[in-house]
Amino acid sequence: MVARPRILLADADAFYVAVARMVDPEGAGRAKLLIVGGTRESRGVVCSASYETRKFGVRSAMPISRALRLCPDAVCVPVPRGACSRTHREIRAVLDRFAPVVESASIDEWYMDLGGTEALYHNEPLAETARRMREAVLQETGLSVSIGGGTTKLVAKLAVERAKPKPGSGATGVHIVETGKEAEFLATFSLAELPLVGPKFQERLAKLGMKTVRDVLPYDAATLSRWLGEREGEWLFERVRGIDRSEVESRGEAKSISRDETFAEDIATDDELHHELLALVTRAASDLRADGLTARTITVRIRDFDFRTRSASRTLPRGVIADRVIHGVAKGLLAKLRASRRVPARLLGVALSSLAADPDADQLALFETTQSTEEETARDRALARAVDKLRDKFGREGIALGRTRNED
Ligand SMILES: [Mg+2]
Repeated sequence: MVARPRILLADADAFYVAVARMVDPEGAGRAKLLIVGGTRESRGVVCSASYETRKFGVRSAMPISRALRLCPDAVCVPVPRGACSRTHREIRAVLDRFAPVVESASIDEWYMDLGGTEALYHNEPLAETARRMREAVLQETGLSVSIGGGTTKLVAKLAVERAKPKPGSGATGVHIVETGKEAEFLATFSLAELPLVGPKFQERLAKLGMKTVRDVLPYDAATLSRWLGEREGEWLFERVRGIDRSEVESRGEAKSISRDETFAEDIATDDELHHELLALVTRAASDLRADGLTARTITVRIRDFDFRTRSASRTLPRGVIADRVIHGVAKGLLAKLRASRRVPARLLGVALSSLAADPDADQLALFETTQSTEEETARDRALARAVDKLRDKFGREGIALGRTRNED
């Protein structure tokens, strides 16, 4: 059986406004009428505005001066960039605990694929998992997220719009489209509501008499291709049925594992540097093994007292995991760097790259579902690595349940 995708999209509700209220410049925390994007004097544009200002006609991307003419009493604050990225990371950290694959799609959106975790969650309905996620994010970060879900990213993206608890909508913050109900769900949308159907494309479609998803459904892919061109025609044919082949990609996933240390005081002697190097190798190699990976390339980086940064690498014929081997190579690299310029150093770093899944780590067997082929996909590997993280939270028993219960 092929693991069925179980995709969720978490979207932070009025993200910039919520973060600005948390940071609270200029009394933003209490301001009902709040515009985020710049000060009253700035010539900035509205990045986001509270629901209450929308009644006055304030919209994103509008010049702040115009927004203030519409809504003169609004409090205007600049985008709290630092706090926004901090909060983004905090929310992601919570989601990482629940989902093996998390993709940060934007500052306030995270796609997750929970395919293969059915046993881990004891077959809990996806909506229930989503509700627990939402609660955890709120408890731990103070921010409210809405979560949409289904079998494709497109369905999840549309579902999250239905999940958002806008005033008067009656929505609860979670909207999951059940497997098999994708087409029915899609049929409730206009074409303009589909992602990537922009104004120009809408115009072309309108000329053909198509304004809603329902309008497109009677036509087969060949007909749509004849009218719109092959790529657009086929794309639209699939989209209106909720089909979307893009996968949740664990973007930002480590291409290398690195550890570095900036010294409180510059280090001048080789002995001391070698001591530091050993500590760095020990930490990096243990991260590598914890992720179930091997590394072929070892890099040592040094920043001299005058901020000049130099590095040296070596790529081995086979992937390695052992401290002894990694340390041996790193020592040689450091010696080479020191030989060419022996001056006090302010930073030392070790990076492990050309990473590959360690075949001996054998974590895939922990999942109940197996792929129909023997090919290991990127998703398999991400899932496998994530088991360790999830195990921390749920304990070994919960994860192994699908496979090894009888062996206990
Ligand atoms: Mg949002």
